[in-house]
Amino acid sequence: MASAGSTKIEPPVPPVMKRSMLAPHGPVLRPQYEQEEEWEEFCERTDMSKVHDFGRYWWRYGRDEDDDGFLREAVFLEVPLRKDVAAKQVRANLNTRHLTIFVNGETVIDEDFEDSQWLNVSESYWEIEVKEVKKVRRKVLKYVLYIIMECPKYITQFLFECEKTEDDGRFLDQDEQEEEDNIDDRLRMIAKMKEPEPYRDADVWFSETEEEEERWCDGCGSTRIVVMKKHTDSKYMKYCNDCPFVSPAKDNSLPTGLLKQKDIDEKRARKKRLKARKEAAKQRMEADAERRAGEPDRSEEVPEDWNASEKTRIYTDAEFCDTLTKALKRGEIKWEDY
Ligand SMILES: [Zn+2]
Repeated sequence: MASAGSTKIEPPVPPVMKRSMLAPHGPVLRPQYEQEEEWEEFCERTDMSKVHDFGRYWWRYGRDEDDDGFLREAVFLEVPLRKDVAAKQVRANLNTRHLTIFVNGETVIDEDFEDSQWLNVSESYWEIEVKEVKKVRRKVLKYVLYIIMECPKYITQFLFECEKTEDDGRFLDQDEQEEEDNIDDRLRMIAKMKEPEPYRDADVWFSETEEEEERWCDGCGSTRIVVMKKHTDSKYMKYCNDCPFVSPAKDNSLPTGLLKQKDIDEKRARKKRLKARKEAAKQRMEADAERRAGEPDRSEEVPEDWNASEKTRIYTDAEFCDTLTKALKRGEIKWEDY
């Protein structure tokens, strides 16, 4: 029990878990209405399924299972290749600041990283993969760029420095830039979110209601008021005892708590309708664009049986013995002498 307070007690959580708990869409929260938009914006910004597509390359931030089964965070960078490219024709130079990839002596990537603090160079690797890219089965070079576990940052905004320039070549305005995406900011954001009040049935009356009926004079603030409806008034009015001010009394058919809830329900419904309309418009636009674009360019498409020769043949026991005997007879296999 010596030096209480000076020892920092750390929960026994491996670093991967610590990062991943705050990683994109880890905590599924549904905060109160007033924070919904801020939360949605946060979820969108940290979304791991988002592909940053720059045409000649694209990348995504996510998690990869390593050889020991641990989930590790990484940037998955993909570069399209011609269909006849083999691994031996690819040369890649990687360091924390820069990546160069040559294919057949031709430079396909030659870029500075936006940040030089996060990359685990020694463990990062690349491989060639065949996958569907914009409806065409294509060969791509997939680079798995591991993040250093101690790095407090998430790579969700920029991978390369060149991504900061806008289409017209202008440099992104520094002030306009979003704040960095790191563990501390995510912690703060998650901690800030408040649970919504429990949903109430219409027959539940709230004790705090009275306070919110605004029983004070709107002119001088005095609480010495009388709420009444004179024969000349169209509704209930607040008459002040301390000044001549007269103002309409809050006239609620529902208790305040329920009224607030009803208001939020209506706002939510409105937002939902608006979102649905936007979504429908977006889908129409996408379908339109697709129709106009016509058939995709299939000149670099890889044939469906591209890996047929690599497939392992499955033998039955009898077939195996047979093949083995033949190979031995032909002298293709030699028994080792003891
Ligand atoms: Zn007054």
